[in-house]
Amino acid sequence: MAQENLEAVLNDLHCKYKSLQDGAVAKYIPELAKVNPELFSICVVTVDGEVYQVGDDKQLFTIQSISKVFAYGLALEDHGRDYVLTRVGVEPTGDAFNAIILDEQSNRPLNPMVNAGAIATTSLIKGNGATERLNRMLNMFRGYIGHDVFVDISVFTSERSTGHRNRAMAHLMLNFGMIDRNIEESLDLYFQQCAVMVNCQDLAVMAATLANKGINPVTKERAVNSSYIKDILSVMYTCGMYNFAGEWAYKIGIPAKSGVCGGIIAIVPNQMGIGVFSPRLDARGNSVRGVKVCEELSQQLGLHLFECSRNNFKSGDLCN
Ligand code: GLU
Repeated sequence: MAQENLEAVLNDLHCKYKSLQDGAVAKYIPELAKVNPELFSICVVTVDGEVYQVGDDKQLFTIQSISKVFAYGLALEDHGRDYVLTRVGVEPTGDAFNAIILDEQSNRPLNPMVNAGAIATTSLIKGNGATERLNRMLNMFRGYIGHDVFVDISVFTSERSTGHRNRAMAHLMLNFGMIDRNIEESLDLYFQQCAVMVNCQDLAVMAATLANKGINPVTKERAVNSSYIKDILSVMYTCGMYNFAGEWAYKIGIPAKSGVCGGIIAIVPNQMGIGVFSPRLDARGNSVRGVKVCEELSQQLGLHLFECSRNNFKSGDLCN
């Protein structure tokens, strides 16, 4: 596909869906309810570092659950696969992202993409005290994004003062010995990681870094050990889209993660990362326009991983 064709595809999708007003912005974190629901941006970054974007691409928003993917990578680097598996499972769940459920046999949270699993994952992030752990987390995001990132203090404090379900999950996991650090410190770190500010292009660069074996295709900096890419992408594929993950895998067919901010990242391994931002969510918590855009991109570009006639869509092709 020629470069101008991909630009045209993104422009067409933006035009087609910008009038779609289904869904509602997340309100359970009071600060999130203030977002402009009309915001809409789409960005694709190839593994060669080429950037294609349309819409409100410089608009900042908090990363929310998309952060879980990257925190999982850091926990794997800190402790290795075998240990992390003793604390967080890899089973998909048909329950909501904030369900207060642990595996009955192992007492582990089901997977790192739901809140309980993400809190357990964040509790594994190493560091000597809250500041060092936060700095390691921010530094990890900097590697994936390519510039310094900041925590939105209003969103962080808003969630910290209202996140009673998350606090309940942390206490349940403490009861079963699944979390053995200071839980208030780990909850703070979890709320901070969710409140890291990004724009749509940042999402696509982060996604492209995962598509590019862990190397940021723009800065050429390694963000995560390549041996953990398969772990990260596997849980994204099976668990990344809340209780829509199965249908997403069936219809769209690429690893992805969404967040209640209205962002979605999707990864086409060895080819590209996709970022979409539009804050109105469906009943499961996925961006309504974001799901539509990814569905059409997957169909039009033949991105489904199990598509027999799948194109090996490289940015070299974009220029032909
Ligand atoms: N910070 C949010 C929470 O813990 C993240 C939820 C999400 O994006 O799915 O509820």
